[in-house]
Amino acid sequence: MEIKEIKDWGLNIACERPIVIAGPCSAETEAQVLITARDLKKQGINIFRAGIWKPRTRPNSFEGVGTQGLQWLKKVKEETGMLVSTEVANEKHVFEAIKYGVDILWIGARTTANPFAVQAIAEALEGYDIPVFVKNPVNPDVELWIGAIERLSQTGVKRIGAIHRGFSTYEKHMYRNKPQWQIAIELRRRIKNIPMICDPSHIAGDKQYIQEISQKSLDLNFDGLMIESHINPKDAWSDAKQQLEPHELELILDKLVLREMKTSISDNNELLGNLREKIDELDNNLFSILDERMQVAEQIGNYKNENNLTILQNGRWADILQRAITKGERMSLSKEFVEKLFKAIHQESINKQTVVMNK
Ligand code: PEP
Ligand code: MN
Repeated sequence: MEIKEIKDWGLNIACERPIVIAGPCSAETEAQVLITARDLKKQGINIFRAGIWKPRTRPNSFEGVGTQGLQWLKKVKEETGMLVSTEVANEKHVFEAIKYGVDILWIGARTTANPFAVQAIAEALEGYDIPVFVKNPVNPDVELWIGAIERLSQTGVKRIGAIHRGFSTYEKHMYRNKPQWQIAIELRRRIKNIPMICDPSHIAGDKQYIQEISQKSLDLNFDGLMIESHINPKDAWSDAKQQLEPHELELILDKLVLREMKTSISDNNELLGNLREKIDELDNNLFSILDERMQVAEQIGNYKNENNLTILQNGRWADILQRAITKGERMSLSKEFVEKLFKAIHQESINKQTVVMNK
């Protein structure tokens, strides 16, 4: 797959990190769109967002103003010189958005989860050279996310980026959507150069968390941020709790710390290089120890098999876990981490013993 880095997209705006895309969740009225855009432009924001067609989870909520909103985006573009972007969920949206001069499209989380819809959008885009961002699907499935990007790439879309907006869960979580950063990191490992934008608004669901999520994404080398901003969030027609007034957005952006990105040991920093070598060596040791542990588990499996014992000995497992947690706490490893680690190790041991016992 040929994916271009965002600095090579030829967007006629400065493409320094972090690239910020901001604007309301939904376009509501011409005045709301224009006033928000002017305020954002004053703060140096160069890419405006607004949802025109809104995929809502339940019926009878506000589903977007539709095509008339595209006229307003066109005005934003003419008046402020900002690039404008909107979400497309089907072929009609693609054709309408292109007709009205929208500069950048994105595919929403609910649409990315549907390969038929993505394929239809990809085919509608054939022959148009427009940048497209693909939000992660609502479910934590990196293959589905990659698949959507591949569909666009296959119909010739060259400027493709990804937007990480977190994943739905049934359990209540502090944030509206669980970030599961590993999935975004994995996408980036699998698709070299893919521009990666974080959408802290939809991860957070509440404006109080936007600062911390934005900072975290920058510390993970994301290229930019898509943040919802509305002139009067409390009266917004969608996603009221998570939208920031333009001046609040400015405060958040000002506070962000931009750390250096070093990509390899050859990056002249000797100390960093040495530390990385150390990490690699420690990882090798971890593997040897894990391998040894699994071999012992297999021997135990043989013993249990010969003596007709069950694989799982509840008391023994509870002891191991408790001991590990106590030890971890003494070494300042969090309980959550130790639990996850040991459950994974234990599961792998059980799998190995199952194989032995079914021989
Ligand atoms: C949006 O950007 O307003 C939106 C609907 O986001 P998502 O597709 O991430 O839910
Ligand atoms: Mn929204």
